[in-house]
Amino acid sequence: MKTKDIIQQAKDLLEEYEKRYYPLLDDVHWVEENECSTDGDYCSDCVDDAKNEYRRNYLLKQRKLTIERRDKEFSKFSTTYNYGGGYEDDDFNYCNSCGKSLNVVVLPNENNIREALIDLRGITGISDYLGYKIYWLLYNDWGNDDERHVREHILTLELAEKTIEILAKKNL
Ligand SMILES: [Zn+2]
Repeated sequence: MKTKDIIQQAKDLLEEYEKRYYPLLDDVHWVEENECSTDGDYCSDCVDDAKNEYRRNYLLKQRKLTIERRDKEFSKFSTTYNYGGGYEDDDFNYCNSCGKSLNVVVLPNENNIREALIDLRGITGISDYLGYKIYWLLYNDWGNDDERHVREHILTLELAEKTIEILAKKNL
């Protein structure tokens, strides 16, 4: 079988898992200080609390300074979010407060593919969450002719083969 077909077969098997998990994702939200993004990604439920926390810490820090060293104008904090996914990330992303999965586009790299391979070790069924993760790693495969991502492509193929092995056994 061609590598493209193997990856496609694994994706077909995982599609129902991905479909079940996808609605649970939230858009990536973050806090901005003077319209510059701060570290940390949040879900829609947690981002306002995170904003208040940033603001509180900022004001506490300002209060500790002598008056002449304080900011002339205090920073303004706001929130924003990435509507409908498409936010590229090195790895699957979670709300920093509650751990909910956030909707990001994960590009396959050696780390995240190896992690998925480890997750597949010794299991007989795949959770919706793992199915969703593997589906998108396969979906974003670099392909046969990308010379800079040969190792990733080989690992992705291994991931597809392991997935088929597990899901084909389960469907016997
Ligand atoms: Zn959250």
